[in-house]
Formats: sequence, structure tokens, C-alpha cells
Amino acid sequence: MRWCRFDDSRLGIVDGAFVADVTAALDVLPAYRYPLPAHDVLIANLPAVAARVRAMLPGAPRRPLPSVTLLSPVANPGKLIAAPVNYQKHLDEVKSDSEIHAGNPKHTITIQSAGLFLKATSSLVGPGQGVSVRKPERRTDHEVELAVVIGREASHVPRHEALACVAGYCIGLDITIRGSEDRSFRKSVDTYSVLGPWLVDTDEVPDPGSLDLQITVNGELRQKSNTRCLILGVPALIELASSFYTLYPGDVIFTGTPEGVGPIEPGDLVEARIEAIGAMQVRVRDADATPLAALSGAAADARP
Ligand code: MN
Repeated sequence: MRWCRFDDSRLGIVDGAFVADVTAALDVLPAYRYPLPAHDVLIANLPAVAARVRAMLPGAPRRPLPSVTLLSPVANPGKLIAAPVNYQKHLDEVKSDSEIHAGNPKHTITIQSAGLFLKATSSLVGPGQGVSVRKPERRTDHEVELAVVIGREASHVPRHEALACVAGYCIGLDITIRGSEDRSFRKSVDTYSVLGPWLVDTDEVPDPGSLDLQITVNGELRQKSNTRCLILGVPALIELASSFYTLYPGDVIFTGTPEGVGPIEPGDLVEARIEAIGAMQVRVRDADATPLAALSGAAADARP
């Protein structure tokens, strides 16, 4: 199934060009009190919710996809994990382009020596919320990436068992300010982690290791590759991440970007596409005058 979150945090199942509204299935979630769990409560209970969804689906009201605002399919991830320089040709372009590596020798080492980094969870939005360029005087780039959503608690997972820990896959945009600062700082700006357009569960993506991915900006093709070109594939990334920290349901791994990264500006329309997942359009706009929470309905998400 293809799970989406839309409008004011409604739960949907994507069915062709329509979204079936199955928000009432969230009633099967346990009642939570402070302190909330470290995982995303929907992803942690996805099998129970799915059973309810299947019963509701034939009679669920349907809306045309273009009429809804798509939010991040994961509302409350505990961690946004990201892989640096995980495609060889992207590593090559980082090494050869001073605007990308910004004179920082740390940016030109391999993923095996760099390890993984974290993006702030407050940077997360869905495609319908768009990207707000906060530092227009700095180069700000698109990076299209396969994003993995973890489905179960996992620590010290060997790679041959790793795919069993996955709930599903999304398209991820790891929007990046180029410069000398630490990656986690430059990549954690509000709206600089886009996840969408929906979560495709593993039934539809049995092998994440051979998916075409691409991104266009205003119709111009910028990046095009296949996940078979990943240096560390999804199982190796889960093995590496879980060797350092426990993964929880709803944690997201941005698996890294192929060659062709380039700048985006307010007014641009970005379209990212990954085989077996779908496509999403993301608008780029000027800096927001208001905090993201006021735009995203996050305050409503915080209701008990
Ligand atoms: Mn990236």
C-alpha cells in the first residue's frame, strides 16, 4: 500500500489518481501520555492500522490527488539519518568542484571514513509544503535520494537481515547549503528535508537496490541514476547505522545523492521521481516570515 498524510494530518491510501481517506483507522493507535515514545507511533503500529485500513478501504471517501496537500508521510521521526558521498560519481564531482566542497577536506573523503550524519527533525516537510530558501545569498542545492523508513526497533543488525527492518520507501530531498560548516548544520534548515510523496511499503519494493531515480528543475534534467550505483546499499547502511545507535520505527535514512547536484532558487519547480515509488513536485519559495510550525499544522499534530 501507499500511505500518505495530507491536509491537516489526515491519513490516506493512494489509489491510482485518488487518495482514500482512512483517517478513522488511526483510532486503533494506543492512547499516549507524556513522555511520548521515541518512535513514530503510526509507523510503530503500521500492521494494526493496515488491518483496519483494509476493512475500511472499499467504503472510504476518495479525493483526487491534486486536490490535497501532501505532508511528510512520517510525522514524528526520532532521527533523520543521512549518508554523505554515497555515489562514486557524486564523490568525484565533490572533489573536483570547489563550490561544492567549499575547501573543506572532510567533504572529499569516502563514506566509509566519514560515516553517517543527522539532519534536524524540525527540517522535515512534505512535498505540498515546499522548500523555503532561508539563506538566499548562499548556494542552496537539490539532492534527490531514496529514503528508507525503518519499521521496527533494530540494533546491531547484520546486513543480510537488514531489509526485514524496513517499513517502506519514499523519495527524499536533502536540500543543502554549500559551505564550510558541519553537514548537520547546513542541511537542517527548516523545510530542507522533504519526504514524500507517500510511503510505499515493502510489498511493492522488494529490492531497493535497482531503482531509477531522477530530478528535474523547471523541466531541466539535473540528476539521473540508479540505486545500484550506491556505494553502501540499503542493507549496508542499516548495518552501519544500527552498529552505532538503535533504530526505531519511523527513523528515516536518506541514502545519499548521485552526481548532478545543482542550485535551486525561489520560484523554481522541482520534480523528483523514483521507480516503484512515484513522483513528487516541490515548489521553492522565498524565506518564510513565520516559523514552520505555523505553516505545517505541527501544533495540531501535538494534540494527545
Ligand atoms: Mn545528501
